[in-house]
Amino acid sequence: MMGLVAAPDEATERVLAAQLRSADTVALLRLAMNVFGLIFLWQVFGHHGSAPRLALWSAALAASTTLCAILGRRRRGSEVTAADLRMHGLTGLLHGLVWAFCMMSLSSHHGEAQLVAHWTLISCIMVCGAISFAATPLAATGFLLPCIAGLPFMFDEPGQLPLLALATSYALSLLVGCFIYARTFARQHSTSVELEEKSEVVSLLLREYEHGASDWLWQTDPARRLNGVSPRLAEMLGRTPIEVEGMLLVQLLAGSAWESGLFPTALHSLADHLKRRESFSNIVLPVEAKGEARWWELSASPRYDEQGTFLGFRGVGSDVTEQRESADRIAQLARFDPLTGLPNRAHLRDVLDKAMAAARGRAAGCAFLMIDLDRFKAVNDTLGHQIGDKLLTQVARRLRHICSGSEFCGRIGGDEFAVVIPTLGENRGIGKLAGHIISGLSAPYQVDEHTLYVGASVGSAVSPQDGSEPEALIRSADLALYRAKSEGGGVHCAYEPQLHAQAEERRKLELALRDALEQDQLHVLFQPVVEAEGGTIVGFEALVRWTHPEMGAISPAKFVPVAEEARLIGPIGEWVLRTACLEAARWPDPVRIAVNVSAEQLGHPSFVGAVVSALAQSGLEARRLELEVTESVFVNADSGALKILDQLRGLGVQLSLDDFGTGYSSLGYLSRTRFDTIKIDRSFVVGASNNKAESLAIIRAVVTLADSLGMATTAEGVETEVELAMVRRLGCHKVQGYYFGRPMPAKDAAGLFPPDQLRARA
Ligand code: C2E
Ligand code: CA
Ligand code: CA
Repeated sequence: MMGLVAAPDEATERVLAAQLRSADTVALLRLAMNVFGLIFLWQVFGHHGSAPRLALWSAALAASTTLCAILGRRRRGSEVTAADLRMHGLTGLLHGLVWAFCMMSLSSHHGEAQLVAHWTLISCIMVCGAISFAATPLAATGFLLPCIAGLPFMFDEPGQLPLLALATSYALSLLVGCFIYARTFARQHSTSVELEEKSEVVSLLLREYEHGASDWLWQTDPARRLNGVSPRLAEMLGRTPIEVEGMLLVQLLAGSAWESGLFPTALHSLADHLKRRESFSNIVLPVEAKGEARWWELSASPRYDEQGTFLGFRGVGSDVTEQRESADRIAQLARFDPLTGLPNRAHLRDVLDKAMAAARGRAAGCAFLMIDLDRFKAVNDTLGHQIGDKLLTQVARRLRHICSGSEFCGRIGGDEFAVVIPTLGENRGIGKLAGHIISGLSAPYQVDEHTLYVGASVGSAVSPQDGSEPEALIRSADLALYRAKSEGGGVHCAYEPQLHAQAEERRKLELALRDALEQDQLHVLFQPVVEAEGGTIVGFEALVRWTHPEMGAISPAKFVPVAEEARLIGPIGEWVLRTACLEAARWPDPVRIAVNVSAEQLGHPSFVGAVVSALAQSGLEARRLELEVTESVFVNADSGALKILDQLRGLGVQLSLDDFGTGYSSLGYLSRTRFDTIKIDRSFVVGASNNKAESLAIIRAVVTLADSLGMATTAEGVETEVELAMVRRLGCHKVQGYYFGRPMPAKDAAGLFPPDQLRARA
């Protein structure tokens, strides 16, 4: 404060400079007082013969004033140091000495009146000096101390001692006042210097922020118009700050939507916050900037002055287009199937959840349709995944086209698709939509150079009756789809409560079936196959039986599909094969044993090994074993199954095509693998004996074809003499049915041969 030591830091230096500046501003007052004092003194003392002293003093005053002016000038411009303050202190001292000299030299000329006048002047000069040097205590001390020292010369009479004491204390008070003022001054200035520094730092940071990051600052006035638009914000908009200044913030953000009033929701919420003068953070909204669609994120708080008057908003903004786009891409990946572009399972589930929640409050429910492509696996397996993928893309395109209305379609996975109907109309229209889907998806596809035929099966369920929770509704639709599939595909099945019961039964059966083998619940029956003409037994078909301790006898027509689905058919089939071969080995040559083989079994390369081992174990010759497969081998199993059939043929095993005409009915299958026998299903036998033209034609065609390919035919399920006569007439080679014998235990089958022809058990 005194400037006696060098300033320790820049802040102190700035306070010193402020002290000097303050002193400089009142330099003129000092000069005026000096001039006034000079004139006054000449007026009072000029006539008392003290003119020479007064003249000498006047010269001293002029010299000191000039010197002070020179010192002051030298300082101006250059930086201020403590030395300058000391120099300024010297100025104060000079002034003080000049006026002390005045007191000393004129005191001898005092009369009463002169003393009063002189003291009045001196007190004025002291006050003025104190005022002008108040901010610089060194100069104030320099000025006032000589003045105090001069006082005893002025009040030199013994009776004036009280006056001297009074004047001295007056001067001392001034000095103390100066110190107090100087201290306050210095404090005030150091605070404002600090504040200034702080705000400099803040604006520096803000500038850095605006330059470096993609963010910018913005503020509005109370009328929600932008003010103080930063260059960065203007640049983001592709405009100049002047163009943007004063625009309504909402209008600026709305862009071309301002006219139509069709604002995005986020902008509505932002406008609400502005209106309610509430702070907000991270509102993300679409804007048009530089002719591009961008995403901005804005946060702001209202500003108030000390009186609580609302000043507008101030906040930050940033362009989050990139983040937003990558977030969108991730969301897209998470919600859409990358191959077909359709909504994926999770997305479908979401839509279904929402639709069901919305439907809860109304009368009209919603529906869920599950779609499965028929014969897709065959395409995928024979032509490869690339073709399969292309086919799925086309399927998706058609499905999207069909579900153009409020229906929402997606891909669950693989060749399964689904449709959500959020609101069912009066007449429902599920059947109609399902019909469109089946016919639409079943039309031939052109993929590369291939013309492909796949069908579609649809299962549907309606909420709330088929399931009040999404989980339950999906399960119901799935059961209905299962039913559609088991009916051969290409149809739509709506969920019925009994499907659930059936599924429950299947589940129970599956559970029980797992223990059936170990617990010896299975056995094999044998049904004779005879020559149509002579009636000689040429073989037996092995038919598995399951007797459950509680559920009793369960038909293979019921449990074999369950075993196939639960992948239990492998071990069961192998067991039947071994048992049948062991039994057949006892029968006279060339009586054959026919064993049914599921498509699933042929899917396992180990099956050939199982056949070889069954033959080896029983000692049965391969030519006496006949394996019955159905057309499903060509449809569902992969191409590996055909290879296995070839390998089996290579072993010398006979192959027959079972249930011909009931399933997929394509004569093309006959050219894929050489069969020894074609088995004509009982339904044609029944139909033909009832003179159904269709059945008659089919049997005739199959017999003719088999003859020309060198294959035999077996008519299945012949129960009566009439049926037998008819299949004989039609030219079937072999016959199987209750007429000749029901499936019977091994003992009974063996009993059909003369005992001497039977071999001992292996
Ligand atoms: P499938 O291979 O067509 O077997 C013939 C079915 O017709 C047998 O039914 C048989 O009992 C029945 N049947 C025979 N003659 C007549 C008749 O004159 N009238 C009538 N109404 N039916 C007759 P089953 O034994 O109930 O077998 C049903 C199906 O179960 C079989 O049909 C076959 O597909 C499957 N199956 C049976 N055993 C096995 C097996 O060991 N493995 C596999 N994979 N499937 C088997
Ligand atoms: Ca069979
Ligand atoms: Ca059959």
